[in-house]
Amino acid sequence: MQGTKGLFVPGPTNIPHAIRQAIDVPMEDHRAPDLPAFILPLFADLKKIFKTQSAQVFVFPSSGTGGWEAAITNTLVPGDKVLAARFGQFSHLWIDLCQRHGLDVEIVDVDWGEGVPLDQYADRLKADTTHKIKAVLVCHNETATGVTSDVAGVRQALNDTGHPALLFVDGVSSIASIDFRMDEWGVDIAVSGSQKGFMLPGGLAILCVSQKALEATKQAELARCYFDFKDMIATNKDGYFPYTPPMNLIRGLRVSVDRLLDEGLENVFARHHFLATGVRKAIDAWGLKLCAADPKWHSDTVSAICLPDGFDSGELLKRAYYRYGISLGAGLSKVAGRVFRIGHLGDLNEMMLMMALAGAEMSMRDLGVPVEAGSGVAAAEEYYRSAENGYKDMVPMLIAAE
Ligand SMILES: *Cc1c(COP(=O)(O)O)cnc(C)c1O
Repeated sequence: MQGTKGLFVPGPTNIPHAIRQAIDVPMEDHRAPDLPAFILPLFADLKKIFKTQSAQVFVFPSSGTGGWEAAITNTLVPGDKVLAARFGQFSHLWIDLCQRHGLDVEIVDVDWGEGVPLDQYADRLKADTTHKIKAVLVCHNETATGVTSDVAGVRQALNDTGHPALLFVDGVSSIASIDFRMDEWGVDIAVSGSQKGFMLPGGLAILCVSQKALEATKQAELARCYFDFKDMIATNKDGYFPYTPPMNLIRGLRVSVDRLLDEGLENVFARHHFLATGVRKAIDAWGLKLCAADPKWHSDTVSAICLPDGFDSGELLKRAYYRYGISLGAGLSKVAGRVFRIGHLGDLNEMMLMMALAGAEMSMRDLGVPVEAGSGVAAAEEYYRSAENGYKDMVPMLIAAE
């Protein structure tokens, strides 16, 4: 195919040219005497992305899934009880990983399309008077259904009941794209990955760990070696790693963090909200529904869109890919075939998303989905046009709303 292909899956995301260049450098000595001068400031700046003063950042060569494993194995004991809600493929997979490690997961099943049920979390925590629950899991942004949950609300529920459980957050598809506040929300471990908001290839699990969680590592008994925080701490303090780090990715991470901080995190969040709102206008104009059941769950990083009965989203994805050269996200597991997804996170602007919307619209029409030609595209156009300065018009508004 000639011309540019379009990547609109919710991770891996588009990689800015400057980051690709930063990765494409000659191999270097990971024990060089000047490496700490590069690594230590990077750790310090990563803390700004998580909005933390007191927590510690870890960078593991791994995908995000390894970050989940690191979080639980470093803090818990086999048989420990953890509380988790299941409402999509990613919240499901984290629960599965906990169970395979021998944890006792108290699962709250919720309809796919909703997020963490705060009232049920509060009830379970209140009922747990002997504090058997050692950790509470939150999938901040369920990428399978396009649902964002209220992490601050979970912290509130913990505080209201005086419950000492650790708060673990999967922020793989939220951190560096939508608002996340490690310290303010009292998060104990936040897990992220390189291939979403950080705009890098897959290959880094980026974790942020509170002092309380670091304290818990002293009693932790789950088997771990590669993911042991202890070995990381021992070498990271001098600016090195316990084993060969993927230096190219870490060089890229430096540029990623610079870009995020130069744009300003509040601007990054406003941009994602602006782009997502345009996508939602298009979906409305098509007469289609989001998988997210209520506006309070709307994700600014991914929209999962329900096709009308009788249409297969797998066919839609194939049409979009082979005929128009764009990748849209598939429906996963329970919503396979019924839902397709548009990822709107990372290095994106309005015009790139217009390509995704036009491609989705054309593919749907090719399949006979009853959407009017140009309807979604027109709605997004008019929305994007309405802001004279693009997302920058929205920044004061968003900051005022806090
Ligand atoms: C992408 C993603 C992950 C991690 O997936 P990996 O493929 O292991 O990087 C975890 N949770 C959520 C919510 C995700 O979107």
